[in-house]
Amino acid sequence: MKLETTYLLLKRNKDKYLREYAKLHALQGGLCAVCGRPLLPHDEWPVIGAASKDVPRGVIDHCHKSGAVRGLLSTRCNTIVGYVEHGLLLSARRYLDGFPSFTSRTD
Ligand SMILES: [Zn+2]
Repeated sequence: MKLETTYLLLKRNKDKYLREYAKLHALQGGLCAVCGRPLLPHDEWPVIGAASKDVPRGVIDHCHKSGAVRGLLSTRCNTIVGYVEHGLLLSARRYLDGFPSFTSRTD
């Protein structure tokens, strides 16, 4: 399977976005590339107003500099990857290290 497209192209074309989502979903065995949680295939997304399923939708992660598609992630992991990209994870770690109750829990 070839992933040649960029996120910008996908964002402008819903059909292309869904096709890329399906490709990534198959390529990753239906799992988030970071945490490994199952993600809903696009053809099983609930319609607006319908009851949501236990398995969440994924999102297509991309590099914000080049626009290159990197993989399919859960929304939670996509947020975390964004924090890592912007150096916020290290800042959060330094913040938490300032609290003895946090550091004692990791021993
Ligand atoms: Zn995840």
